[in-house]
Amino acid sequence: MRQLLILLLSISSAFGQANFVKIKILSSMVASTGFGEWGFAALVEVDGKRILFDTGAHPDTVLRNLREMNLDLSDITDVVLSHNHLDHTAGLMSLRKEVMLKNKAALSVAHAGKGIFLSRSTRDGKETNPMIEIRKVYEASGAKIIEHDAPVQIARNVWLTGPVPRPNPEKNYGRGLVLKHEDGKTEEDFLPEDLSLVIDTPKGFVVLSGCGHSGIVNTLEHVRAKIKNSRIHAVIGGFHLFGLSDEQLDWTADKLKQMGTQLFLGAHCTGIEATFRIRQRMGLTRQSVAVGSVGGGFSLDQGIDPGTIAR
Ligand SMILES: [Zn+2]
Ligand SMILES: [Zn+2]
Repeated sequence: MRQLLILLLSISSAFGQANFVKIKILSSMVASTGFGEWGFAALVEVDGKRILFDTGAHPDTVLRNLREMNLDLSDITDVVLSHNHLDHTAGLMSLRKEVMLKNKAALSVAHAGKGIFLSRSTRDGKETNPMIEIRKVYEASGAKIIEHDAPVQIARNVWLTGPVPRPNPEKNYGRGLVLKHEDGKTEEDFLPEDLSLVIDTPKGFVVLSGCGHSGIVNTLEHVRAKIKNSRIHAVIGGFHLFGLSDEQLDWTADKLKQMGTQLFLGAHCTGIEATFRIRQRMGLTRQSVAVGSVGGGFSLDQGIDPGTIAR
């Protein structure tokens, strides 16, 4: 048995896939420790490389939750911003200021999808994209934001999807904002910059989403078409399914099942009813589909950890 395990491990490292993956939720609605909020952030660790994914909805939530969990981000250079919305970007500057006290390079490289700075205005012309202002202060601190327009590898076995094509009409986003393109053309804001983080593991892909505005099915199909046609091992994070009808949820669950999805940790805007409906439709158990909470997360060897709230 032990020899078989060593053989399997050496085969997977020969193919170069990630063997150690840990994701810890730092901001979400439900909290097993610290403070909950309508927002999202997670700490990602892949074979020793640590990355921050999103930064929470209030400037101090992630900071306070890090203290509660005795975690320090000052050795992390890279932060991923899934999209412009303030419930994912409000903590960026307060975190950057805090970690800079120890290390000037900490959180100094932000990765985002192309379009994150485009204007989004209300019908009466009020600008709502917080990243336009955040960018100025962030860059003034000596940091930079890289806009990606295609799938990109940001660390060994760690990918960002880049902007996600939308062949399925999932439309998992709020309505009513006007998006203005660089050429001046306008249309309804569909969050073109929305991206997810993807980890290539021997068990299949682990996909981490912020708000899922591209649609979870569009995202997973894009991952398999453009990165590699692997099965989906785990999907974690916010998927914006809370407002879906039972029929739409069943369609989503059936697609997840077809792609071999084994684990689902629905945090942030996924919705509690939506998570349970997906579990039921996929014929899975509470060990494999759960609501994610602050302090919970995922590891490649243990699977999903909903936190104390769902035990
Ligand atoms: Zn959002
Ligand atoms: Zn959100």
